Amino acid sequence: MGESERCTPRDLNSFPNGEIGIVWEDGHESIYTGYYLRCNCNCAACVDEMSGVKILENESVPRAVTAKEIHGVGRYGISIAWSDGHDTGIYSFDMLRKLCPCCE
Ligand SMILES: [Zn+2]
Ligand SMILES: [Zn+2]
Repeated sequence: MGESERCTPRDLNSFPNGEIGIVWEDGHESIYTGYYLRCNCNCAACVDEMSGVKILENESVPRAVTAKEIHGVGRYGISIAWSDGHDTGIYSFDMLRKLCPCCE
């Protein structure tokens, strides 16, 4: 297994309960809550581009936030439009694999 299998999605699902699931090419499955991914958005409005310091306060994110729309961004990742109106976040597959809640 190479690094490319680890970070390549085989299947991506948005579940009715708001969770997002990805099955990776290496067989690993990641399940994320909308809240978790929304809090980890690293767009320029959520993380300072210069310093890398997080601007977004988790307390400002609705607990029940869900993904309204998910679009592919080339072969690189996905963009997610959230139910709280935030839609500038791009999640690379590399980042999503690193964010897997069960992984180190
Ligand atoms: Zn953001
Ligand atoms: Zn995992």
